[in-house]
Amino acid sequence: MKITELFRKKELTLSFEVFPPKTAETFESVKSATEEVALLSPDYMSVTCGAGGSNAGFNLEIAENLLNKGHVTPIAHLTCVSAGKDAIDAQLSGFKMAGIENILALRGDIPEKGDYTCVFPHASDLTEYVKSKGDFCVGGACYPEGHPESPSQKEDIAFLKEKVEKGCEYLTTQMFFDNNILYSFLYKVLSAGINVPVVAGIMPVTNAKSIKRICGISGSQLPQRFLRIVDAFGEDETAMKQAGIAYATEQIIDLIANGVKHIHLYTMNKPEIARAIKSNLTGIL
Ligand code: FAD
Repeated sequence: MKITELFRKKELTLSFEVFPPKTAETFESVKSATEEVALLSPDYMSVTCGAGGSNAGFNLEIAENLLNKGHVTPIAHLTCVSAGKDAIDAQLSGFKMAGIENILALRGDIPEKGDYTCVFPHASDLTEYVKSKGDFCVGGACYPEGHPESPSQKEDIAFLKEKVEKGCEYLTTQMFFDNNILYSFLYKVLSAGINVPVVAGIMPVTNAKSIKRICGISGSQLPQRFLRIVDAFGEDETAMKQAGIAYATEQIIDLIANGVKHIHLYTMNKPEIARAIKSNLTGIL
C-alpha cells in the first residue's frame, strides 16, 4: 500500500525504522531483528540505506523480506549523493520488481573526504526524478531544528517547500527531544504553505554512550530534562534503558494529545525497545 493511502485511511499511525546490514556476515542477524520488529505489526516500516548506495542490495533485500515475510508495508530509503543515474535507475527497477511502492528520497550526508559528484544535488532533484520514473509514493526528510548545513531555518523551509512542489508527498522529521521544537516547526511549515503530512521521528535513547554520537550526527539538542536523566541513570544500563523508553513514550503521548497523527520510531534494530514502547501505548495508538 502507498503511504499516502494509508494516511488517508488511518487517522493515527505508528511506524518503525530499521537499518540493513553493512556486511554479508551480519545479514542473517539483522534480517531476523527486522522480522522481530515486524511482528509488532507497525503500520509500515522504513529501511535506511548508506549514503552513496553502499548497501543498496541489502536495503532492497530487507525491504522485500519485510513485505513478503513480515507482511508489513515497507519504505525503502534511497540516497543520491555520489550516485550516478545508472545506479539510481538500477535501484528503482529493483524496487519496482520487488513490489516496493514507497521510497524515502534523500540526498545523504556529503562525504567528509574525497571528491564526489552528484547527478542530483538535492533530495528535491531526486524526488522529481523518482516521480518521473514510475508510480512510486515518495517521501522526504525534514529538520525541526533546521538542517545542520542550512544558514537559517527560513531558507531550509523554503527548500522544503520546493521538495514538496517537486513531488514529495509526506515528510518524516529528524529526531527531536523537545516536543515544543516540533510544534513550532509545524506552525512554520504550515505558514509556508506546506500541507503534506509530517511524521514525527522519535529516537528512544537507551544508552548514555550513544547520546553524543546521535546528537553529533543529527544536530539535535538534548533538553536539560533529558540531560538530568542521563546524569542520574547513564551509568546503569538497565535504569537508562527504562528511562529512555519512558521518555520516548511520554514524548509520543504528548504529541498525540496535541494532534500529531503519525509517529515513526527509530528502533535501531532493537525489537525489545520497540516492543516496550508499543506496549506502553496500548489503547492510545
Ligand atoms: P536535502 O533535502 O537535499 O537538504 C540538504 C541541505 O540542502 C539542506 O540544508 C537544505 O536546506 C539544502 N537545500 C535543499 N535544496 C536546496 C537547493 N535547491 N539549493 C541549495 N540548498 C538546498 N541518510 C542516509 O545516508 N541514509 C538514510 O537512510 C537516511 N535516512 C534518513 C531519514 C530521515 C527521516 C532523516 C531526517 C534523515 C535521513 N538521513 C539518511 C540523513 C540525510 O541523508 C542527511 O541529513 C542529509 O544531510 C540531507 O538529506 P536530505 O534528503 O534532507 O537533503
